[in-house]
Amino acid sequence: MSEEVEVKERTSFEKYKLRKLIEELENKKGFHTELISLYIPPDRSISDVTNYLKEEYGTAANIKSKATRKNVMEALRSIMAKLKYFSRPPPNGLVIFSGAIPTGSTQGTEKLEFWMVVPPEPIKIYKYHCDSKFYLDPLKEMLEEKDTYGIIVLDKSEAHIATVKGTHLEVYKKLTSGIPGKHTAGGQSQRRFERLIEQAGHEFFKRVGEHANNVFLSIPDLKGIVVGGPGPSKEKFIEGDYLDYRVKQKIIGVVDTSYTGEPGIKDLIGKAETLFANLRYTEEKRLVQKFLEVLAKDDEKVTYGEREVREALVQGRVDVLLLSEGLDIVRVTIQCPNCGYTEEKTTREEELAQIHSEVAQRNCPKCNSSLLAVKEVKGIIEELGELGEQTGAKVEVISTETEEGQQLKQAFKGVAAILRY
Ligand code: ZN
Repeated sequence: MSEEVEVKERTSFEKYKLRKLIEELENKKGFHTELISLYIPPDRSISDVTNYLKEEYGTAANIKSKATRKNVMEALRSIMAKLKYFSRPPPNGLVIFSGAIPTGSTQGTEKLEFWMVVPPEPIKIYKYHCDSKFYLDPLKEMLEEKDTYGIIVLDKSEAHIATVKGTHLEVYKKLTSGIPGKHTAGGQSQRRFERLIEQAGHEFFKRVGEHANNVFLSIPDLKGIVVGGPGPSKEKFIEGDYLDYRVKQKIIGVVDTSYTGEPGIKDLIGKAETLFANLRYTEEKRLVQKFLEVLAKDDEKVTYGEREVREALVQGRVDVLLLSEGLDIVRVTIQCPNCGYTEEKTTREEELAQIHSEVAQRNCPKCNSSLLAVKEVKGIIEELGELGEQTGAKVEVISTETEEGQQLKQAFKGVAAILRY
């Protein structure tokens, strides 16, 4: 059995949460070399790791600065305490971050913070790292989309060279031939004109080939190339001697498109969907298109908008939950520590400061205490996504890179759901 089959495919929501966590950890800085990152591969025994940490603990006792010594030893103790709960690492291994994070600008304000991550892919190396920041490269690499596809769309007047990776489409090169589309000259000059056109076409294909070679040969592990265009130019281009043989070998399909240029690229991706295996770009298009199809057929089976979808989630009616990555709203929990009164509201991120000052001036509506405060602020994607997971919905985080993703964000307020009933 190959390793790839064993590894569980992470959902877009899990990836989103991991990406957010990495962003959060990147912003954590210690005063000194006292933040610990620990990567444990699945085949490493926990007792080995614990023995290693005990040695580090002994070494840490010699750190000259009293504050740093205390912080490092405390972080090590927190990790060793946690590892006691494991008899062996989980199937993909384990990543732990622990360290004294400043809560103010002076030393002595640090508070120990601790994170444990079960990685989406198996950890390959054992790594103990102590620094003033956390070591995140292996986790970042796991989030990176690995499959890149090349795209050439051309006819005799223009050519586009692009790649698509994950949800990201990038146009590297736009070339035009300058060849006029139609001509009306007759007789002798007609033939001469045609020869000139043919020559210009050949020169144009040569240029396209050179640029395509440069772009595609510089991408290691390019999964495949799809060539498209509206007319017979693409076949002539492929059959001719314009592409490096290594680039030619990567061609996995030829597609008739209705356009050239960027609309042609998008048309090609849509039509060649089956050629691009596991490409998130086409998956996201499909997910939003599915929602639109159900909407057109039976609008009782879908809902959209934060409030409407939340209601459907609470009722357990959501089958597929679509959340736009472009959402900039948060869920705020306001609570009174005196009597337990709680209220929740949704607001835009930029209005948070205003909410904080409003709450500070208000008294609890139940017991009139002045202690009413903002207890929690959570991104709406995380909040609704977790609600979705708890109620058995498939949660999909959709980027704004595709037209469908833009539509989800703008026309459906970034939150949409296909319902079970
Ligand atoms: Zn109260």
